[in-house]
This record gives sequence, C-alpha cells and structure tokens, in this order.
Amino acid sequence: MRRFIKRKLKKPGRLHGPLKKAYDELDKTARALIQTDLKLHQANERLNLQISQGHALHRLGTFINSTFDIEIIMQTVSESMAKDLDFEKTGIVFLDKKGQKPMQSCYTGFSSAEYAHLLEHFGSLIGPALLQEEEVCLQTASYASGIWAKLLRTLSLASLIILPMRFKSRLIGFIVAGRTHITLRLSEAERRFYCMYASQASSAIENARLYEALGQANLTLEEKVQERTHNLIEANERLRDLDTAKSNFISLISHELRTPLTAIKGFVMMLFQHDKEISGEKRKIYLSVLNQETDRLTRLITELLDISRIESGRMEFMWESISIPDYVRKILGKLSLEAGGVDLEADFPENFPSVMADADKLEQVFMNLLVNALRFSQPGGKIKVRGWRDRAGATLEISDQGMGIPFSEQEKIFDKFYRLDNDVNRKNPGTGLGLSICRALINLHGGRIWVESEPGQGSRFLISLPLNLDKTANSSGVPSLHPAPTQRYAEGA
Ligand code: ADP
Repeated sequence: MRRFIKRKLKKPGRLHGPLKKAYDELDKTARALIQTDLKLHQANERLNLQISQGHALHRLGTFINSTFDIEIIMQTVSESMAKDLDFEKTGIVFLDKKGQKPMQSCYTGFSSAEYAHLLEHFGSLIGPALLQEEEVCLQTASYASGIWAKLLRTLSLASLIILPMRFKSRLIGFIVAGRTHITLRLSEAERRFYCMYASQASSAIENARLYEALGQANLTLEEKVQERTHNLIEANERLRDLDTAKSNFISLISHELRTPLTAIKGFVMMLFQHDKEISGEKRKIYLSVLNQETDRLTRLITELLDISRIESGRMEFMWESISIPDYVRKILGKLSLEAGGVDLEADFPENFPSVMADADKLEQVFMNLLVNALRFSQPGGKIKVRGWRDRAGATLEISDQGMGIPFSEQEKIFDKFYRLDNDVNRKNPGTGLGLSICRALINLHGGRIWVESEPGQGSRFLISLPLNLDKTANSSGVPSLHPAPTQRYAEGA
C-alpha cells in the first residue's frame, strides 16, 4: 500500500492555486496513511511474535509436563528454543544442589567445543550474572565488553540471552539461547515471556527431580524392607536351629546322663544282691566299670557347668606364669596310658616362652584336643604337639593323622553341641561341647583357636596365645630358631 500510494502521488510539474492545495492535502493524508500502516505492521508483527511465543509456551508445557524424564525435558526445552523461538544455538544446564556446578546439560546448535567453552565460564561469568540479574540476562556483541565480548566472539553470536531457572528462589539451572546475526532488544513483554518460559522449564525439571528422588527413596525403602525381611528370615531360621539344637541337646543330655547312670545302677545292684556269688576278679571288673561311668558322668556335668559359667561370665581364672612345654609333657604322660598304639610326641624349642594363663583351663583345652585326636587316630598313627614363638606370641599346634575334617565343617565344630556324623562319633558318644568350651577358654586368655585340615590327611588344631614378655622365663623377645630335641612318650611310660 505504501508503495502504491507513493507511486500514485508522484509530484506533478507545477501546480497553482486550489490544485496545489488539494495536492498538498492529499500528500499529507498519504503520509498519515503510511505512518498508520507502519504502526499497524509493527503491531501485527508483535502480535504474531506473541502468538508464536504463546504457542511455544503451550507446546512446551504440554510436552514437558507429560514426562518425568529429566533428559527428555532438557532436550525438549533446548530444541523448542531453537525451533519455536528462532534461536540458532541453545542449551539448558541443570546445576548441583548448591547451585554451584553444572551437573547435567543438553544443547542444540553449539559445537561441543563451543558448549564446553561456554560452561567453562559458569563460575567466572554466567554464575555471577545469574545471581545479579533477576530475570533475563541479555548480552549483545554490539554492546558487550571484556570477557562477555570475547565469549560472544568465540561462540560466533550476535546476541545471547541467559535465563535463570529457579525453584522456590533457589537457582537450579539456566537456559542459554543465542542468535548469530540479530542483535536482540527485549521489550518488557518479551522479558516476561522468557521469564515464564524459564519458570515452566524449572518446575518441570524440579518435578522430575522430585519424582526421581521419590523413586530412589522407594527403591531404598524396598531394599531396606527386603533386607529386614531377609534378616528376620535368617533370625527366624537361627531361632529354629537353636530350638532344634536345644531339643537335641535335651534328648542327648538325657541319654548321656541315663547311660552311665543305668550302668552304675545295674552294677551297684549286682554287687548288692549277688555280693557273695561274685568272684574277686568279676568284682574288680564291675568296680572298674563303675569308676569309668562315674568319670563319664562327672565329665559331662563338668562340661555343662563350664558352659553355664562361661555364658554367665562367672568363670574364675587363676593367672600364673606357666611353662607350656612342661604342662604338655605332663598331659602326654597321663594320656600315654590310653594311647592305644598311637605315638605321642612333643616338640618345643628350648627357649619357648612362659605364658600368663590359668593352668587348669589350659590343661582342660589340651586334654580335650588330645582326647579328640586320639579318638580319630588309628593305632600306629602319630599325635604331635608343637610350639613356636612368633609375632602374635606363642603358637601351639596339636596335629594328628586321623580322618581329618571337611573344610565346610571346620568352623562349625566350634559351635556348641556340634558333632560330625561319622562312624567314630557314632561309636563314641559325646556332647559336642568340648571345642566350644576350648574356644571360649582360649578367647578368655586373649588368644585364638582354629583348625586346619584336609579329609584323609589328619587335622591340625592351632592355638595362638599372647605373651606377657615381662613374665616369661626368657624375655629376650627374639623368636627361637633352634627347636629342642623331640621327646617321645611311649605307651604306658
Ligand atoms: P565331642 O568330642 O563331644 O564330639 P567336640 O566339641 O570336642 O565334641 O568336637 C566336636 C566335633 O569335632 C567332634 O564330634 C568331631 O566330629 C570333630 N573333631 C574334633 N576333633 C577332631 C579331630 N582331631 N579329627 C577329626 N574330627 C574332630
């Protein structure tokens, strides 16, 4: 229209009087029309922009509110800035909890080097700008100076807007959008629009983050519930095992108590009722059985009392400095009477240190280990007790050449009432308390006891005891390298 009016109103040659006046009037009207048309055009452009911005906001809102996936939301925001709002280079950055470090980001149009360069300026340039500017930070190549100008040049941008994303006034991230050739100038309405845009993106991202956190919390909760359930199942199983062990124990103890008692009662009755008919030889045999069965009963009751004392913390100790080799030799001497063809051997270096211990308790431990070793040894086999000094203190080893213990059972045999199901055990009733008492006693001496064994290759029970060097016979502190000559105990010696 402007062009049309200009063409029609080309100034004619010379005009006079009323004609000139009419022409001037017409010219004035034409100019006013051009002005109005221009304004209309501008208003139309603004309206179009507002409509497309409104559309962009609507599309963005519809899409990002339909997902909780932060990656997708970020990608949508970045692409929407490029597609719907005509920015050639866009990006969106999600910051860490303190709002001090970029955590996750997505970009469109920037090269990876450009984007990395932009993010490098977060701490020095963008971060402080976001804290200063309340809504929109606009930088243009024509007006920017210093680092901003350099940054715009490196990014090949004519204008760059940075929109802070805030959630409950906390800075959670920002959006960057740049135009390569147009120097942007933002009207108040446009500023408001970008503000709304960033706020839409912030709530979508924060909702997604909360959703993610909720999912994580749910997962953790589920894991915790599963863990607790598992623990409860385990505890329940342990209780059931304990209950079974207790029932087994009661029936075992009843049996163990009844067997010697029945034998004792039977032989006593026999001696009472047939006193005169029993020969001197038979009497001796009966009395020896009575003696054995009484011993068995005493042992059982002692073990039960020991367990009860240890568990209630009532076990008393008589601490003294003792020479283990002497004790071992004494015990081996006693045992050699019932070794049944098994060779008993002690092997200690001459300067083996004395240890602070309760002699009776230590003897009880050795007795238990040696009686077990004898039980599992064949005639002609060998049981050896060795000792040496090492960093941990004194280590003692009781080894046999018996049937050995499967690896899977090696810890369990130290449990109360635990016995392996094998021919030897079937022929020799026991309580399964001995090793648990040994472990408790050695632990109370500040030491450790464990077993090393291979089925068919015999077993090695090892005891490590701490040393109180001040109390040792030889307190040089130097481990001995020269073992003393081996000493043998013949059966019946
Ligand atoms: P008990 O002697 O009453 O059976 P212990 O607690 O002393 O109880 O021993 C537990 C189990 O450990 C034994 O029943 C046996 O199965 C196993 N055990 C102990 N010592 C040896 C050994 N030297 N060789 C093979 N098995 C052994």
